[in-house]
Amino acid sequence: MKNRIGFWQEEIGLQEEALEMRTEIVRVGQGREAFTPQEEEALLRAGNIIKQGGLVAFPTETVYGLGGDAMNPESARKIYAAKGRPSDNPLIVHICRWADIGLVAERVPEAARRLGEAFWPGPLTMILPKAARVPKETTGGLDTVAVRFPSHPVAQKLIAYSGGYIAAPSANLSGKPSPTSAKYVIEDMDGRIDMIIDDGEVGIGLESTILDLASDMPRILRPGYITQEMLDKLLGKVDIDVTIVEPDSGQAPRAPGMKYRHYAPMGRLVIVEGTSGQVTEYINGHAAENQRAGEKTGVIGTAEVLEQYHADVVKCIGSRKDEETIARNLFSVLREFDDENVTSIYSESFPAQGLGQAIMNRLLKAAGHRIVKL
Ligand code: AMP
Ligand code: MG
Repeated sequence: MKNRIGFWQEEIGLQEEALEMRTEIVRVGQGREAFTPQEEEALLRAGNIIKQGGLVAFPTETVYGLGGDAMNPESARKIYAAKGRPSDNPLIVHICRWADIGLVAERVPEAARRLGEAFWPGPLTMILPKAARVPKETTGGLDTVAVRFPSHPVAQKLIAYSGGYIAAPSANLSGKPSPTSAKYVIEDMDGRIDMIIDDGEVGIGLESTILDLASDMPRILRPGYITQEMLDKLLGKVDIDVTIVEPDSGQAPRAPGMKYRHYAPMGRLVIVEGTSGQVTEYINGHAAENQRAGEKTGVIGTAEVLEQYHADVVKCIGSRKDEETIARNLFSVLREFDDENVTSIYSESFPAQGLGQAIMNRLLKAAGHRIVKL
């Protein structure tokens, strides 16, 4: 593990001293809805850490977040340092009551009210004009703020105990897949932050949908569990950032974070699109070739055709009939390949509709947009 952290540290230029903290790890979630007195006490302590300017990683329904006080510029700086994240990449402000949206946003348009009613608490982030009280450090220097009201009970309680506003990006080192389980948070953040709240695995596994409401027309900046179809239905037609539907457009994405190398496993990932016969044949051919060259090859396959693959490591991402499972498994499968030192990875492709739009968006990023169309 030291080597891996060392590798990323070098890659993103992290500072050595950030590695020397003691990180407390607390386990919650046994009782789920009803917290035990010990869990209550731990969450209260976690809230106090955030109030005092410290950092706590916590579960949400999407992925684990790395939380600090959204109203404290110093906390934002610490988050950027712990993640090795460029400081022009804004954080999402997490709230735990609908009314608080009006305290972080300067205006709350009618569309935001309707979206809140339909999808909050839940995996939707809204971009709105920023209220003056939100520091620029939290918004990466922007005049807009990203706001989300998560549905996870641990997240809600922590936000309430920490004063109501948690700034949080995903709790991974910058460039790595977002953590869908506490074990990956520990892998990336142990020694870098004050506390990690371990609630096992998350439910959704992809980050929230980001919808920009600060310009004339609502526009999806990052696809997620709340799909374009769901938003169209509620608001009439919504736009989508051109870089999501046309990744080769050459334009810069409007969500600053979407421009960075992201979600990447260490092995070289290639997506293969075609009929299932073409895909298995192509992948098996390349796996055999790689083997002769001394490379370790991994495959991301679906349950329906898994047995047809011949490679060093074959991982099942779920059934084609169940996109929610594919979404939930994607980031952990990518991380598992790192654990097995796989140097070359091939993945099946998925139709980019519904939840598939978010799945393909993350997969294409992880692959650096390498896709073979047969
Ligand atoms: P993460 O927390 O890792 O899910 O990253 C947060 C995402 O939200 C990044 O892609 C940011 O660029 C995006 N984001 C946060 N605030 C804004 C904003 N005001 N405008 C556009 N994108 C934002
Ligand atoms: Mg992230």
